[in-house]
Amino acid sequence: MLTQVAEGVLVHQSEFCQSNAVVVQGRAGVLLIDAGIYDSEMACLANDLSESGQIVVAGFSTHPHWDHVLWHARLGSAPRYGTARCAATIRDRLSGPHWKDSIAGWIPPDIAEQISWDLFGLITGLPAEMARIPWDGPQVRIVEHQAHAPGHAALLIEERGVLVAGDMLSDVLIPMLDLNGTADPIEDYLAALRLLEGAAGDVDVLVPGHGSIGGADQVHARIDQDRAYVHALRDTHVPSDPRVGPSAKSGWEWVSGVHEGQLQRLAQRSERDGTPG
Ligand SMILES: [Zn+2]
Repeated sequence: MLTQVAEGVLVHQSEFCQSNAVVVQGRAGVLLIDAGIYDSEMACLANDLSESGQIVVAGFSTHPHWDHVLWHARLGSAPRYGTARCAATIRDRLSGPHWKDSIAGWIPPDIAEQISWDLFGLITGLPAEMARIPWDGPQVRIVEHQAHAPGHAALLIEERGVLVAGDMLSDVLIPMLDLNGTADPIEDYLAALRLLEGAAGDVDVLVPGHGSIGGADQVHARIDQDRAYVHALRDTHVPSDPRVGPSAKSGWEWVSGVHEGQLQRLAQRSERDGTPG
């Protein structure tokens, strides 16, 4: 089911981790951001679009994690964009002979079997200097940063007052740092929050990659909440964060495990690098 969140901007939410696919209406068709997870859900989205006479003219993936680079044949063969770093990262992953096995290692089999991998990760990288998605519709500004995943981009649809945040600013998921190979994941995350804070002045609607849609009051509240969490991680304080511990929403209890894992990996890093935690 498509729900309108702003003029010409609609959201299709998945059963899997409240993943939000975003549809932006343009002149000749729609832009589809982070298309969805389950095959049946993307087929449903394709149906909803074709019933209202709309075709997908462009896709965009906010970052190169598996749940953001899926596609369904019925959505058509429009170009599917991402940042150059996003495209390079997924291309690299797909070039290995055993990429399906490695995905199967971290997706439960009952979920993996509801997903079609045929069109997985076919992302066209946009040159770094391209500040907007090339398409015939409302201008969509690409706000690239290095938090959470390489080449992660938030999208700002200024004319509609919408910020599509990717995997940040969620009411259910804590900041998940990119701890693979980046020199300073804490500072990368804080820098990304500053960037979003600077970009999101006039935003009325916040669409996170997972979780509830937020109104204008939520934009800065969630930036502050994410920043407080990252500060707590950095200073190894126990975060007073509603997404972690007994206050986590039902179905999201596993997020506390993610938090514990991040603490451990950061401690290992500081031991290895000889830097204070
Ligand atoms: Zn995600």
